Amino acid sequence: MRVYISVDMEGIAGVSHHKPTSRTDSEYPAAVALMVGEANAAIAGAMSAGATDILVNDSHGGMYNLTPAEVDPAARLLQGQKAWSMVAGAEPPADGSGPVFDVALFVGYHARAGHPTGTIAHTYTGGPTDTRLNGRATGEYGFNALVLGAWGIPVGLVAGDDALAAEVEDWLPWAERVVVKEGFGTSAAASLHPAKARDLVRAGAARAVQRARAGELRRLEVGPPVVIEVDYRRALEADFAAVVPNAERLNDRTVRHAGPDPVTAYRGFLAGVRLAATVE
Ligand SMILES: [Zn+2]
Repeated sequence: MRVYISVDMEGIAGVSHHKPTSRTDSEYPAAVALMVGEANAAIAGAMSAGATDILVNDSHGGMYNLTPAEVDPAARLLQGQKAWSMVAGAEPPADGSGPVFDVALFVGYHARAGHPTGTIAHTYTGGPTDTRLNGRATGEYGFNALVLGAWGIPVGLVAGDDALAAEVEDWLPWAERVVVKEGFGTSAAASLHPAKARDLVRAGAARAVQRARAGELRRLEVGPPVVIEVDYRRALEADFAAVVPNAERLNDRTVRHAGPDPVTAYRGFLAGVRLAATVE
């Protein structure tokens, strides 16, 4: 079993405010240690269920957060500035030889932009205030599951707060949901102790790999067409996002990226969000 693990930081137990998630904060190393703990728990769970190859994609901020020597040597670690962002390393080879992983696990994930109680809820950057896939609000877990699904990989586990779990139940009902904290808005959470959170992540990862082997997981599929809409905080951000080829400006702050397939729509979305993040 080949296992892909995408690890974000805002959904990790013990992380409740956005400041420690940025590398200039004095509490950042402590947040990284918590992130490493849950990543290693997912690796251990996957190994216990028979994983033979594990790639951990460091999926937060600058994407070089996890301290390599602290990560379980059973996994390879993908870090740095990656064109495919939170799903990098899962792309199928150009020769058409098929999926490169059997299951994906999302650890440290969080609720979508605009969620009223989700801890540090956002979608990719601080720019979007709401993000929708074929008309339904979703977040990073949804867009990443969409692309991985197109690449032949089902999502088997999503770990984060209770707000995220409720969203995932709606979007990815086949996936294991691990709740490590209760969200109290953008900057507060009631968290399990990290040791308890790691136990839950380890057990959830093991179940996810077992269920992948049993063929109980599905790939997220929508459309065609596949339509991603983004509401931005500011019209200037939408101005920039709307420059992306085939983007459609719906109103002052909303941009639509549509495609005949998930990857085309996601490429437009990702390019738009990145362009919007460059405005001053
Ligand atoms: Zn995130």
